[in-house]
Amino acid sequence: MIVGVHPLAGFDKLLHYRVPDTLRESVAVGSLVRIPIVNSLRLGIVGEVGAPPDFPVERLKAIAQVVYPFPALTGELLRLARWMATYYACGIDAIIEAMIPAAVRRGAGLKEEKLLALARRLAPDELAELERRAPQQARLYRFLVEQFRSPPKGLVLARLDLGAAVVNGLIKRGLIREETRRIERVAYSDDRESGELVAAQPHVLNVEQQRAFEALRASVAENKFSVSLLHGVTGSGKTEVYLRAIDETLKAGGGVVFLVPEVALTPQTVARLRSRLEAIAPGHRCVVWHSSLSEGERLDGWLALATGEARVVVGARSAIFAPVHDLRLIVVDEEHEPAYKQDETPRYHGRDVAVMRAKLANAVCLLGSATPSLESFANAEAGKYRLLQLTQRIDDRKLPFIDIVDLRIEAAKQRTLPALSGKLVSAMHERFERREQTILFINRRGYSSSMLCKQCGHVEECPHCSITMTYHRSDETLRCHLCGEQRAAPIRCPQCGAPDIRWRGLGTQRVEEAVKRVLPRARVERMDTDTMSKKNRFREVLADFRAGKIDVLVGTQMIGKGLDFPNVTLVGLVDADISMHVPDFRANERTFQLLVQVAGRAGRGDRAGEVIVQTFTPQADAIQYSRHADFAGFAAVELKVRRDFKYPPYRHLIHHLFRGPNPEKLKFFAEQWARLVEKTVGDRVDVRGPSASPIEKIKDEYRWQVWYFTNAVTKVVPELARLRSEFTWPDDITQVLDVDPANLA
Ligand code: ADP
Ligand code: ZN
Repeated sequence: MIVGVHPLAGFDKLLHYRVPDTLRESVAVGSLVRIPIVNSLRLGIVGEVGAPPDFPVERLKAIAQVVYPFPALTGELLRLARWMATYYACGIDAIIEAMIPAAVRRGAGLKEEKLLALARRLAPDELAELERRAPQQARLYRFLVEQFRSPPKGLVLARLDLGAAVVNGLIKRGLIREETRRIERVAYSDDRESGELVAAQPHVLNVEQQRAFEALRASVAENKFSVSLLHGVTGSGKTEVYLRAIDETLKAGGGVVFLVPEVALTPQTVARLRSRLEAIAPGHRCVVWHSSLSEGERLDGWLALATGEARVVVGARSAIFAPVHDLRLIVVDEEHEPAYKQDETPRYHGRDVAVMRAKLANAVCLLGSATPSLESFANAEAGKYRLLQLTQRIDDRKLPFIDIVDLRIEAAKQRTLPALSGKLVSAMHERFERREQTILFINRRGYSSSMLCKQCGHVEECPHCSITMTYHRSDETLRCHLCGEQRAAPIRCPQCGAPDIRWRGLGTQRVEEAVKRVLPRARVERMDTDTMSKKNRFREVLADFRAGKIDVLVGTQMIGKGLDFPNVTLVGLVDADISMHVPDFRANERTFQLLVQVAGRAGRGDRAGEVIVQTFTPQADAIQYSRHADFAGFAAVELKVRRDFKYPPYRHLIHHLFRGPNPEKLKFFAEQWARLVEKTVGDRVDVRGPSASPIEKIKDEYRWQVWYFTNAVTKVVPELARLRSEFTWPDDITQVLDVDPANLA
């Protein structure tokens, strides 16, 4: 038996090996094996069984070991890896490595726990007898009778404050037995305790939910590839629809991947999903998957899926690679989230990979959002995806009204521009008096260095690209970093002549200080990437906020995702312009999403919510359409712009970054390269640039870039890869290719 193996780590090709007779039984496509390369043993994945004709098999080396007696990658995952390698211009070794957690590759040890299972039920008179003779044992027995499945021994003893002797007593009587199970080491141990023993009741679906669910049920039953886009306003009960679809899939014997953005994976979300999933499908374990799992936790979860012991995984982006058997459904919640895009190699988009995996597995892919990405929405309009809609909030509560504060007027009133407008301050005061909570958002995507006139709100845009020009202090220029257009930075506003056109956005720290000045007695907490670098700090702050220990929470949009705080009745967006004027054609879309999601945070409890948005450009579409969460209206206007400029979703975009210590040399080679691409594949790609990156220099390295727009990524990427290997690059220039980048700035 001969197999082709993809070695991990640095070998982007298939090598052939002999399989010794003793290992023959346990080797299959997808097996993780150790193979001799040069003088050491390395890991690899079996990619094919057999060898090409005329292959010189006599001198082949033998596989040294099979790491697990079951495949580490399912067949469709291997096919997915091959597709990703082509699409994302990345070595297959790097992709396979991303698919298999490090812990699995190292084969860390397993952890087990003892469960208490009921062996026999007592008749009423027997129970009375036990109550009399051994009241403690009776208490434990009654507790176990009430559980819908066997709970962990340690947990039960701690909860009932009993010793092991009581357990032994019941075992002796033959009423219970101890079982051992390999456990997933769960990071959120506290919610196993609070969440796992209680099963949340499913809701009775409303008419719209029912309609969406029926459609999904039919798709799942068909057992073939399809994509549905569930567009439901915030609070319309999308999660309930996901859960029913998952239930249906499990009943049909299928496996499920449920993706959520990393920040939405809070203990509360997980506890809720887990208890619901484990209640609808008793005996099913729901594996949780996210970036801060320990190695052991990850290994346990992975093993449970790879062996088929668990069929559901809930996780962030990389959970799309979980080795779920018989995959029938993939749910991608908040599918519009840019966080699904990985910003290091392999630079894949979790949602797009989800659709591809569903296709390869003949599964159903369900994308859900209150503000779908225009990519997905255009696919729905084109009939490629089925559109399902939830237009009403669950209890018919109105979406909170968005109140817009015109900062131009505010700036004229006060001589310096305050971080917080008069309106926002008095609204915060009211909340504080009523013991209600406020969230202040500051959007800090990338950095802000556009020019904005504080008198009239004018922003300089590139005439060719319709994106904001970037201000470069070093040579006082405005530049477009898509096409390279460049001009001297104006000193006065080109529209109204006002001198005050330089502008920077506010930081979270300045806003926090401003809040402390106007509300000295309030408890204020700041949440941004600087303050949240410590592990678990994010969760602590959220827990405190939920517990009412914080009055005002100031932070970047990381606060917003999938969180539900009933006592928050005011949400302020301090600086809507920052997200609107980043030099990115998605700036409007992101702003609209942000506003709608933010508004959805306010008034989720029984109290009405209020949203205040501060901006210099109140007339912008992103702001006006968000006032009533009019997604269709916004999408229509924005898609027209995208069509006119042939931006995604009408074409794909590829980013090519060049880095090096010498700016002149970098520019020279980037120009040579762009010309070469233009000449050779110019009929299939629209080349823009080269241009200086918006951040021109990072850590002594200069950055230039070229952009490609194309209709056929899988045709163009291999061409670029070929050209790249033929072009003579100086050693000190490094390059990164990013297909479908989520952010341009
Ligand atoms: P979305 O994800 O669309 O913003 P959620 O799924 O979070 O909305 O649902 C909002 C709230 O409504 C949740 O508290 C959920 O438990 C509740 N809910 C969902 N469906 C129903 C229903 N059919 N009847 C009553 N409550 C529901
Ligand atoms: Zn331009």
